[in-house]
Amino acid sequence: MNCDKCQDRKYILIQNKWKPCSCLIDARKLLKYNQSGVLPYFYEYTWIDFLKNYPNMKSISKICKVIISKIKTKSRLKFMYIQGDANSGKQALIALLFKEFINEGLSTKIISLNELIQMEFDKEEKYILSDIYCKYDVVCLRIGTIIEHSYARPIIEKFFNTRKNYNKYAIITCRLDIESKQGLYGIEVAKFLCDGRRVFKIRMK
Ligand SMILES: [Zn+2]
Repeated sequence: MNCDKCQDRKYILIQNKWKPCSCLIDARKLLKYNQSGVLPYFYEYTWIDFLKNYPNMKSISKICKVIISKIKTKSRLKFMYIQGDANSGKQALIALLFKEFINEGLSTKIISLNELIQMEFDKEEKYILSDIYCKYDVVCLRIGTIIEHSYARPIIEKFFNTRKNYNKYAIITCRLDIESKQGLYGIEVAKFLCDGRRVFKIRMK
């Protein structure tokens, strides 16, 4: 038995009504984290864990608070990019932000550019693809690898253009290394589409 409150029945009787137990609510939350692409390693990871040794802790903390508080507002065109070296904590930061978004009730997805390119070629994935472009409230495109693929640029453009047209939040993360030409290109496209306005930039150390 895992839960003392409900004896693993998942529901508790409160004033003659069956209510979901906190363990069921937690389990649903973890399922959503999983479906969004948050790695299990980060399920229990907190802002305190992240910020305690971080070099530019104050500025990151400040900008993340703004993003979290504004994520549900209807203002047009929302982009964000996170740049950093291979082990600068981009994934940890994305995991923390996405857990906040999910707790706010938003639908979210983290996907790599490689996966997105693969999906474009896989006919059976079409409906998942349209969710990524048009439906999810927030999508993070991870441009992290060294691949140089001829479809990378058109797909990055399609990603931003479609998200923009549907007025959905788009986040990219990319490495600072010179190998990541797609990442730099993604930043260019984002800058161009939003004309410098309403873009959150985080440069990680
Ligand atoms: Zn329970």
